[in-house]
This record gives sequence, structure tokens and C-alpha cells, in this order.
Amino acid sequence: MNVFSHPEFDNHEQVCFFTDPRTGLKAIVAVHNSSRGPALGGCRMYPYASDEEALRDVLRLSKGMTYKSALANLDLGGGKSVIIGDPRQHKTEELMEAMGRCLEQLGGRYIAAEDSGTSVPDLKVMGRCTTQVAGVSAHIGFDGKPSDGDPSPATAYGTFVGLKAAVQHKLGRNDLTGLKVAVQGIGNVGYRLARHLHEAGAQLWVYDIHQDQMERAVEEFGATPVSADEILTLPVDVVAPCALGAVLNDTSIPQLQARVVAGAANNQLERPEHDALLMQHGILYAPDFVINAGGIIDVFHGRTGYEPEKVRAHVETIGDTLNEIFTRSDRDGRPTGIIANELAEERFDHFPTQQEASLAKAG
Ligand code: NAD
Repeated sequence: MNVFSHPEFDNHEQVCFFTDPRTGLKAIVAVHNSSRGPALGGCRMYPYASDEEALRDVLRLSKGMTYKSALANLDLGGGKSVIIGDPRQHKTEELMEAMGRCLEQLGGRYIAAEDSGTSVPDLKVMGRCTTQVAGVSAHIGFDGKPSDGDPSPATAYGTFVGLKAAVQHKLGRNDLTGLKVAVQGIGNVGYRLARHLHEAGAQLWVYDIHQDQMERAVEEFGATPVSADEILTLPVDVVAPCALGAVLNDTSIPQLQARVVAGAANNQLERPEHDALLMQHGILYAPDFVINAGGIIDVFHGRTGYEPEKVRAHVETIGDTLNEIFTRSDRDGRPTGIIANELAEERFDHFPTQQEASLAKAG
């Protein structure tokens, strides 16, 4: 298995492989870039078919976190960890404690948050053996409601703010009354986004593979339920993907009637060049890793001292960042995804690394 010559290797600062035969732990931690601060990112547990697949995931996802944190103006770098195993079969408290001990060895260079296959209780178990876990403390959230550390409300609010910025930019409207929005996926984020939109007067169409999730939105927000095939192709103003990745592809993009795509799902573009195809079709795409950063902003503040008003204001900067991306995209005639990447690189490339900064301070 190659690391340095792996196609996803992007000069990652550190890639660590951990094993603990007693508990069966096999994990990889990748720190992509720590120039803005310690690398924060989710700890994913998944039954990877091969070590190679796990390495690919951790390299790709840790890089994505560097870009996301830089665009969210966080003093954080990008990192990710993966535990190889089926969370339903192999997850034990002992294994999570072993993972905590591994994280502790990294001396704070990487901080773990929940991800698919891990939950806040798992992170709390890891936290018995390390201080390097985030999103585990109960507090009053940015919205004034009690929070157990779940980032979904902040992600949904950030997505709502970003959707409004996109609508303002593309459709020239500030008032969402009567705005037609199709929401794909009515889970933790999609449900809350639908509520914000409903409260702002938008008209909703919804689809979720789980009937009960969809019915909640129908009953509470007067949404219209539609089928899997219809949700992306309706004659609406905005499509908000909030379920799964790769929904923007060669097949779906030509069928979109919406002029704005603004949703929380990660990795919405099947391939990077699909942002260019969206632009060719006259569709404004709010890059997913910009619009869905409310959660990481929330988790960051949970570690540094949570002040609800400050967190809300920080989440609202997602709108400003998107405006900058949309303006540059119009000016240069280049897709928003590429512009977002360049803006992120501007924000982390000129930063000294933590080591350089401490050496400079010392000397
Ligand atoms: P979730 O699991 O709570 O919700 C996802 C919903 O999508 C579920 O209701 C599920 O039934 C539905 N779904 C699954 N497949 C579907 C399909 N083919 N068509 C329609 N619906 C489908 O997850 P979530 O926390 O709401 O996250 C949603 C998306 O946002 C994910 O892509 C996630 O990675 C991304 N995201 C979430 C957060 C967060 O704070 N939760 C932060 C950043 C990004």
C-alpha cells in the first residue's frame, strides 16, 4: 500500500497507523495541514473493504477539513481519523478507550469529533483517555436552546444563511416568501433547514427514503411530498441536497430546473468538474464545504468557550464568504467550487505552521 505516492496524498503533514490487538482497534489518523491550528475532524468508523480504502478516505477527508476550516475562518487545520470495523459489530467501550489513548499520543495535533459510525457517547468514552475530543459538552446553543454538542442545528442554520445569500445573489430577492425550495433528505439537518425555510415563508417540496421523516415535514411545514425521481427535477427556485453525496452529476444536472443549489450534504458533486457543468447550465452552486460549515464552527466554539451570540455571528459569516465566492466567480467567469478552493488556499497557505510559529516566538 503506497502512502507518499497515493493519488489522494497531498503533502499531508502526518499520517499515523494505530493498532491495539487487545481490543481489535485498527485506525488511521491523518493531519493534512495544521498551519491555522490543530487539525479538527470527525472520527469515522466504517467496515472498509481494505486498508487501502480506509487510507484513501482518511487522506481525502482530512484535506477537505483543511479547506472547510479555512473558509469558515477557524483557527483550525484539517484532519480526520478512521477506525476500520463495523460500528454495529465491533464497537466496544474498550475499543473507543484505546482510540482515545492513540489520540492522546498525538499531543493535541489532531482533535476528534463525531462522524458516521461514531456518536457523542462514543466520543465521551474516548474522552476518558484523552482531552483531544470535541463536541461532547452540554451547553446552551447558539439558538438559546440546550445542546448536547450535536452540531446539526448550527449546520442547518448556516445552510439557511448560505441559501439566502445564494438566492439574493442569483435571484435578487431578500424576501423568501413564496420561494420554492425542494429539500432532499429530511434528517437532522434537512428537517431543521426546512423549518427555517417554512418560518421565512418558503414553499417546500420534500423527499426522504424514510416515509416518517417526510411526513413530519408535510404535517409541520405544509410541505408537498414527492418521489425520489422528482425531487431534483421540480420547477422550483432552489434545490437543497441534505441527504447523500454525488447527487450533482452528468444525469441530474441537465434535468435541474432550479437556478440555485444550496444544501448541507457533503460531496454533492460527483466529480470536481461538475461545478463547471452547473455554471454552464446557469445554476448557482453554493459549494457544500462552505455552506455546511456551521457544525464545525459550533464544535470549535465548544472547545474554546461557548458564547451563543458569538457563535451565531460566526455561523452567519458563511453568507459573507459565499458572497465573496459568488462575486469572484462572476468576475472571473469560473465555477464557484474552484473559486472556493482557491480562497481556502489563500487562507491557509500563507500561515506559518505551528512549528514555525513557535520557533519564531522562541528565537
Ligand atoms: P441524517 O442521517 O440525520 O439525515 C439524512 C437523511 O437523508 C435521513 O433522513 C435519510 O433517511 C435521508 N436519506 C438517505 N438516503 C436518501 C436518499 N437517497 N434520498 C433522500 N433521502 C435520503 O444526516 P444529517 O446529519 O442530517 O446530514 C445530512 C447531510 O449533511 C450528510 O451528507 C452529512 O454528511 C451532511 N452534513 C451534516 C452535518 C451535521 O452537522 N449533521 C454537518 C456537515 C455536513
